[in-house]
Amino acid sequence: MNIHEYQAKELLQKFDVATTRGKVASTLDEAEQIARELGDVDVVVKAQIHAGGRGKGTFKTGFKGGVQVRKTPEEVRNAAAEILGQILVTHQTGPAGRVVNKVFVAESAEIAREIYFAVLLDRATAAPLIVASTEGGVEIETSPQKIAREKIDPLAGLQSFQTRKLAKQLGLESSQLKNASKLFEGLYRTFIALDCSMVEVNPLVVTAEGEVLALDAKFNFDDNALYRHPEIAAMRDIAEEDPREVEASKHGLSYIGLDGNIACLVNGAGLAMATMDIIKFYGGEPANFLDVGGGATEEQVTEAFKILISDKNVKAILVNIFGGIMKCDVIAQGIINAAKTVKLSVPLVVRLEGTNVEKGKQLLKESGLALITASDLADAAKKAVKAAGSKFQNSNPK
Ligand code: GDP
Ligand code: MN
Repeated sequence: MNIHEYQAKELLQKFDVATTRGKVASTLDEAEQIARELGDVDVVVKAQIHAGGRGKGTFKTGFKGGVQVRKTPEEVRNAAAEILGQILVTHQTGPAGRVVNKVFVAESAEIAREIYFAVLLDRATAAPLIVASTEGGVEIETSPQKIAREKIDPLAGLQSFQTRKLAKQLGLESSQLKNASKLFEGLYRTFIALDCSMVEVNPLVVTAEGEVLALDAKFNFDDNALYRHPEIAAMRDIAEEDPREVEASKHGLSYIGLDGNIACLVNGAGLAMATMDIIKFYGGEPANFLDVGGGATEEQVTEAFKILISDKNVKAILVNIFGGIMKCDVIAQGIINAAKTVKLSVPLVVRLEGTNVEKGKQLLKESGLALITASDLADAAKKAVKAAGSKFQNSNPK
């Protein structure tokens, strides 16, 4: 689950992490009012979408930049007018962009230095890891040699020698050490307490007065731990999510929308990934990742199928089931049910193998559904790619 920057900052403040003073607005009046309350300071207006790269983004209107600094409340209002309700395209949104429904209006920081700082869960060590770089704000991939890494022992927590070491590696002065340590510790406590898989602050800034602040914040949460944090679950903004994924999550399906045109219905995450790989291998592009799991019911399969069919980009559907705990006849019945409620307007390629395969094939045959059967994974992928049409075109990403 993702949250907006303004929500991330609300959470950070609870952990004593210094950020800028500000509030969220959904109307021009609100934006202007917040600017007045902030007083006689420069004010920054920031588009709130679940994607980064806003600063360098461009609106479909041609207006440049989802992060704007202004001097007066009237100017803030005008900047908000360029942003609210408009579509912002950044390198993370894809060409379709995102509608901006809210802006964060805050006191502008006087930036002396921009640093990249993130706490994440490292697979290699199975422990928290701090990744930091002096090259904050911009793409940090461009200067990998300047990246500092500090592994945290999850039992001991972040130690003060580690914060000092990081501060030194980041070139912070000794006068800034106290502020920096407080910030690093606060970020680490946030990461642990909220069951995050990542807390990324880019940029973390040193201001002209030597303050150290989190100027931007991005959180990734472990969805499996969300039940422990109802206040975070309540921050979910459905408007920012792929409607296909929202629908799938209602039915307990593991679904991730992609930009291709071949829909896949598969059981098991490994088989799902193998199916996507082989589709690509034969020149196609998957429209989704969908794992119906080992214990999917007929209803879940039906709902899954409806989601696949309702996706306008989908030009063919590939069902690839290896029946183990999941029985082939359950899948077959789900397909038949879904085809009854939703018109099957695209070719359907089916490869079934394993438990109750004969019963499943029999059900499909008796249903009279027009489908293409495949003997194995490669055969299924080839047939799906052919059915979808040779030339892949991405007409409507996300
Ligand atoms: P992102 O582009 O979506 O990552 O949004 P950020 O919040 O990181 O802002 C992008 C850039 O805008 C930052 O790297 C800063 O250079 C600049 N910026 C953000 N907030 C402020 C601010 O309060 N004052 C000033 N002067 N610049 C800011
Ligand atoms: Mn940023």
